Amino acid sequence: MAETVLITGASRGIGAATARLFGEKGYNLILNCSKTYDELTTLQKEIEEANEGVNCLTIKADVSIASEVNYMFEAAAKRFGGVDILINNAGISHSGLMSDMDDNEWDRVLGTNLNSVFYCCRKAVPYMVSQKKGCIINVSSVWGLYGASCEVAYSTSKGGVNAFSKALAKELGPSGIRVNAIAFGLIDTDMNKCYTEEERAALADETAIGRFASPEEAADVIVGLATGHSYMTGQVIQFDGGWI
Ligand code: NAD
Repeated sequence: MAETVLITGASRGIGAATARLFGEKGYNLILNCSKTYDELTTLQKEIEEANEGVNCLTIKADVSIASEVNYMFEAAAKRFGGVDILINNAGISHSGLMSDMDDNEWDRVLGTNLNSVFYCCRKAVPYMVSQKKGCIINVSSVWGLYGASCEVAYSTSKGGVNAFSKALAKELGPSGIRVNAIAFGLIDTDMNKCYTEEERAALADETAIGRFASPEEAADVIVGLATGHSYMTGQVIQFDGGWI
């Protein structure tokens, strides 16, 4: 039977591109998002029609809430037995001065970007251990390595994801499970739609390659790392076009 991949935040952007690529390779898919469920079911149809034999389950769940994550993994186990590859991709950004942030804003960013990774890994790992194999990829950001002004909560959450990935890799390596984080730079998704054309051009100019990466280029590195590179674990891989 084909292996099963669970991707959080798969309704658009990097998550959707990653789902399409895993679908092309014949993996079974569990696709998640919290709000834009219509986009997710449209993607499910597209992937199933384009790839004969691929089974795709969509689950609406807010990954910042443990009980919703638990429900998602119960549904995944019922349909596919368990999750072989977990892509923790769901994330949100927040721009503004740290001193202006209220408790809810802080909790929302940390809950969505960091707590979710803990909740999903906690539910995914027992099955992987029973299989003596598995792969976890946590989608992170260069800001988790270097910090960004006016993005303190986001930087903190992604820094936490990086440390979490390194520590968990050490815990799970003996069980045949690899854990890595990918620290992305500028990827052309809705997350960056707040920028004007001038701001986008200025940002692109800061990279060595001179442009944003496409979601497909981001997906290519995620799927490549999940399906190959069997000795690579405990890494935070920087994928930023020579930006920082
Ligand atoms: P996006 O806004 O296009 O997609 C985010 C996805 O996460 C959507 O499917 C959304 O529905 C989902 N989501 C948000 N909150 C959720 C929740 N509570 N529960 C379940 N799903 C939820 O953004 P993107 O650029 O594709 O971002 C994907 C990941 O890549 C994020 O973790 C982000 O931090 C990271 N990243 C993006 C960039 C970039 O430049 N776009 C750079 C570095 C890292």
